[in-house]
Amino acid sequence: MLTVNAYAAPSATEPLIKTTIERRDVGPADVLIEIKYSGICHSDIHTVRGEWGDIQYPQVVGHEIVGIVSEVGSEVTKHKVGDRVGVGCMVNSCGECDSCLAGKENYCLKGNTGTYTAVDRDGSITQGGYSTHIVVVEDFVLKVPESIPFEKAAPLLCAGVTTFSPLAHWNAGPGSKVAVVGMGGLGHMAVKIAHAMGCEVTVLSQTLSKQEDGLRLGADDYFATSDPETFRKNSSRFDLIINTVSASIDINAYLGLLAVDGTLVNVGAPSEPLGVQAFSLIGKRRSFAGSNIGSIQETQDMLDFCAEHGIAPETELIAADYINEAYERVLKSDVRYRFVIDIATLA
Ligand SMILES: [Zn+2]
Ligand SMILES: [Zn+2]
Repeated sequence: MLTVNAYAAPSATEPLIKTTIERRDVGPADVLIEIKYSGICHSDIHTVRGEWGDIQYPQVVGHEIVGIVSEVGSEVTKHKVGDRVGVGCMVNSCGECDSCLAGKENYCLKGNTGTYTAVDRDGSITQGGYSTHIVVVEDFVLKVPESIPFEKAAPLLCAGVTTFSPLAHWNAGPGSKVAVVGMGGLGHMAVKIAHAMGCEVTVLSQTLSKQEDGLRLGADDYFATSDPETFRKNSSRFDLIINTVSASIDINAYLGLLAVDGTLVNVGAPSEPLGVQAFSLIGKRRSFAGSNIGSIQETQDMLDFCAEHGIAPETELIAADYINEAYERVLKSDVRYRFVIDIATLA
């Protein structure tokens, strides 16, 4: 066992504190990673506060991880000591079900093993990236291309792939009209990636407060959803709508913005049910869909795509002792657009 520094939640209601956790010994198929940067995802906050169900404490979260390989197991072939690598939202899957055999580990029929709060194969609870080291089986470790600035690479592992996957799956490309709902951590990555894919990109945000950013990051159009005119002007316009908002929205109004055969994909997860009216879909053969992060291959494809197109998230680098304050700012949408923890401050 390796005892490593970490920032953990002691309970659902207390601030996160500096502590130590145990990492398992490096097994034959494992890679030990010295973590350099870890992103803060909104999911981290929901999770440690028990808003997505009861969890065991203390709990370390963080599933946007980049670092350097510092040790490899005897059977590891994909990674070597010194490699720049990343770990996203999952660290294992069953490897045997139809989804896993098809390379869709994110849709493992037995449930993939999440990077935190999941029961690992040895029965322990997985602990995330707000720590100095992590041990992960090599198949779930990604290669981070040299050309992506390391301190900006971390958010690609969740926010990047969560938006890349539906864009790729629904064949977004030149000529596609794509709308992104919400201009936050996920939304700003969706804008950059869709723009680089050659799509015509429109942001639908509550207000116009981030309009300048949206246009600078690659959006062609930007509308406020607080203005009813937005829904009239853009009726039946989009081939694909990526909804990154986890609050409840008037989903039928958004479905009305889809063209014939258009699809609205949810990557945000409101806790309340969304009331879809069948007539919102029937008249124009529209689809209402969801998408869960991305497979390991899609994650690697996304990293390579971002390297090729010079895309990286907009980030604010923080020290570990700023995490609790950062959480409050994330909840107020007061971050442009992702906090990244400099793990050197945890050493
Ligand atoms: Zn996330
Ligand atoms: Zn499986």
